[in-house]
Amino acid sequence: MIVLMDKACMSSRAAALPAARGSYLLVAELGATAWILVGALGRRCFPAGLYLGLRARAGRHLSGRGTARWHIDYLLQRAAVRAVWVREGNRRLECQWAGALARSGAAQSPVLRFGASDCRCASHLWRTELCGGDLEALLRGLPFAPCCAWPEKKTPE
Ligand SMILES: [Zn+2]
Repeated sequence: MIVLMDKACMSSRAAALPAARGSYLLVAELGATAWILVGALGRRCFPAGLYLGLRARAGRHLSGRGTARWHIDYLLQRAAVRAVWVREGNRRLECQWAGALARSGAAQSPVLRFGASDCRCASHLWRTELCGGDLEALLRGLPFAPCCAWPEKKTPE
């Protein structure tokens, strides 16, 4: 079951995320197919579903507040963050992760060049049909294994 969060809740939780440099992977859910204006990319169609957004130092931009500057911020005006995976450190892993997601065959990039204006990746935004344990396994298998930073996992006792 998916529990909806209100924005205030998301903002306070985002504040608890690592402030250090790092590579971030946001899992965001878009409830209904939507045409969204994405800066210079123009209006693009985003099918409903789960998205994996890659970027460095997401930090304060997670909640989608304020002026949209990063491509992911445009999506987050309509989609809700469900999880945040992080690998702290100076190494920028977004492009490696994008390559790994492409090779996995478990994710597609419906909007080419999203978040990838400065590199050669097809996209830094991927849509997947996986969920639950299958999605977790995919993310754990990425290069330099990111960890789920939010929500915190409740381990069964
Ligand atoms: Zn890239």
